[in-house]
Amino acid sequence: MTRTLDLRERFNKALMPTYDDYAPEVALSHGKGCRVTDLDGHEYLDLAAGLAASVVGHAHPDVVAAMTAQAGQLIHTSNQYCHEREVELAERIQRMLDPTGTTDSRVFFCNSGAEASEAALKFVRRQRPDRPVVVAAADAFHGRTMGALALAGVPSVRDAYAPYVFEIRFVPFGDAEALAGAVRDDTAAVFLEPIQGEAGVVRPPDGYLAAARRICDAAGAMFVLDEVQSGIGRTGRWFAHQFEDARPDVMTLSKGLAGGLPIGACVSIGDYADGLQVGQHGSTFGGNPVSCAAALAVLDVIERDHLMDNAVTVGDELAAGITSIGHPLVAGVRGRGLWRGLVLTEPLGVQVSEAAKAAGFLISAVRTQAIRISPPLILASEEAGEFVGALPGILDAAAAG
Ligand SMILES: *Cc1c(COP(=O)(O)O)cnc(C)c1O
Repeated sequence: MTRTLDLRERFNKALMPTYDDYAPEVALSHGKGCRVTDLDGHEYLDLAAGLAASVVGHAHPDVVAAMTAQAGQLIHTSNQYCHEREVELAERIQRMLDPTGTTDSRVFFCNSGAEASEAALKFVRRQRPDRPVVVAAADAFHGRTMGALALAGVPSVRDAYAPYVFEIRFVPFGDAEALAGAVRDDTAAVFLEPIQGEAGVVRPPDGYLAAARRICDAAGAMFVLDEVQSGIGRTGRWFAHQFEDARPDVMTLSKGLAGGLPIGACVSIGDYADGLQVGQHGSTFGGNPVSCAAALAVLDVIERDHLMDNAVTVGDELAAGITSIGHPLVAGVRGRGLWRGLVLTEPLGVQVSEAAKAAGFLISAVRTQAIRISPPLILASEEAGEFVGALPGILDAAAAG
């Protein structure tokens, strides 16, 4: 028996089967840059990046050094004592939002994307106690906890846990007219992903976020953007909303922020900058020194190595390359930067990701007809080219079953 098979058997007897009815097929052992190696020594080009979180790749020396130094100095303080790294990181996020420093904002640190959504929802309830409705998008994903789950635009994910604390009014994503019709004087907030990640990297028409901003202003509703997956440089800007005049009142972050360490953030902005007040929220581990040190290193690397430019250049090459193979299974490529949805003409998502794995590439079938490609932002042109070169064979194998 291989080491992978053995581990999978033990996994099944010890862990809940929440992701699949059997343990994941690949058991990873270690990684370096964009490559990971499994327990049996097979190497893969990682175009999934741990659900788009490993933004500077695996075992980045700067991140390892920052974490190691911080771990040797102070691992944990709780929210009863402050420390330098959390303040530095919050200041950094303020500057990423507005380099001119004219927009006021405050940061609350937590440990995940779902927790960031929870903080945002609690803040909305505090700010708009008399408005029972939140508007969210069909196919949206904002996390799996009971508050965030209310916003899930996929009935099979959501319905078993109703009723929820807010009444949610769902609108089709990307349709500004539908949004305008749904946001009324009963609406506390609009929650949107700038580009929908779990839905298959769905990019709305240009101008949609700016329209959403105006619609919220007209109705007195708060505008909340979930940048958990879209943020931290993946699209070519720190935050995906920065392509438009669409600054949110509240922004959530997680996934890429610490390059793979658990962290989340809820940021209150502009007129709402004061944020949650004494006694309204808290977290034991939120703003953990090691996670914050890792995040500071990640942000330094992105800036120093011009990884947002790399995301645009290599992302465009990747999209053009995939389109150029002209395979009958490829319906198109959507998304932005190094965050792409490969849309299939047939519901063969799982088969395509299996065939990719066999060929040495990790990608995620987020929908039956959409594959997500969300590599580390350090992906080189040659690495993108490796995947494009292998893709016709992968798609043929998937189609052959
Ligand atoms: C992944 C994700 C979340 C949830 O993050 P967790 O850390 O898994 O709780 C929330 N919003 C978006 C847009 C995400 O992609």
